Amino acid sequence: MTEKSDRCMSCGVTLIGPEGARFPCPNCGEIIMRCNKCRKQSNPYTCPSCGFLGP
Ligand SMILES: [Zn+2]
Ligand SMILES: [Zn+2]
Repeated sequence: MTEKSDRCMSCGVTLIGPEGARFPCPNCGEIIMRCNKCRKQSNPYTCPSCGFLGP
């Protein structure tokens, strides 16, 4: 139906299969996706919807 490319919000890498983590933005509920690497390193991310900057 729609595009199925999940990309890390921090580094922009394409997430394949179960790789990475998805969680709702604490501010607006938009789904944020991050790769395992950025998750481990606690890289900052920015919500594409509301601009929320989070660890
Ligand atoms: Zn990443
Ligand atoms: Zn947000």
